[in-house]
Amino acid sequence: MSKKIAIIGSGFASLSAASYLAQAGNDVTIYEKNNTVGGRARRLVKDGFSFDIGPSWYWMPDIFERFFADFGKKPSDYYHLDKLSPAYTVIFKDESIEIGDNLSTIKETFERIEEGSSESLQDFIDNAKENYDIAIKKLVYRPGESPP
Ligand SMILES: Cc1cc2nc3c(=O)[nH]c(=O)nc-3n(C[C@H](O)[C@H](O)[C@H](O)COP(=O)(O)OP(=O)(O)OC[C@H]3O[C@@H](n4cnc5c(N)ncnc54)[C@H](O)[C@@H]3O)c2cc1C
Repeated sequence: MSKKIAIIGSGFASLSAASYLAQAGNDVTIYEKNNTVGGRARRLVKDGFSFDIGPSWYWMPDIFERFFADFGKKPSDYYHLDKLSPAYTVIFKDESIEIGDNLSTIKETFERIEEGSSESLQDFIDNAKENYDIAIKKLVYRPGESPP
């Protein structure tokens, strides 16, 4: 049965919840206190310049793909992604370090700075992948209905 549902806020969480609830046939209204949607991921336009208020990194692309696929769409139907190379530059007082756009280049950079550190980086990446897989399989798509 269709319900009338009010959603407070227009961040990623609210927008995705609203999309699924509307898809299920409910009458959904989103209430947002700011002038624009997007929450911490919104854009501020001022004096001809655009600023991303929050995210710089397009993390967990698989989640976005799955979300859009649930509505018969693709992310590329709505936005275009350009991979940056280098990924970013860390600027210190007297030097700067470019971080490449792939793991082997990043490992070379690590080795140049500290011999053997690329192995630690690989360990960190392996560990992060394990944690990511656990999070996706056991947490992200399961409702948090109780602490355990
Ligand atoms: C500086 C910064 C950098 C970040 N970098 C990254 C990154 O690189 N990659 C990444 O993936 N993530 C990044 N994040 C995190 C990401 O932006 C957030 O996790 C995500 O946007 C949170 O979405 P949300 O829907 O949970 O909450 P929010 O975006 O906080 O949405 C909550 C919404 O509710 C509204 N609201 C609250 N109370 C009310 C009320 N009473 N009435 C009406 N509206 C209300 C708020 O105005 C807001 O629009 C970053 C965040 C910040 C701040």
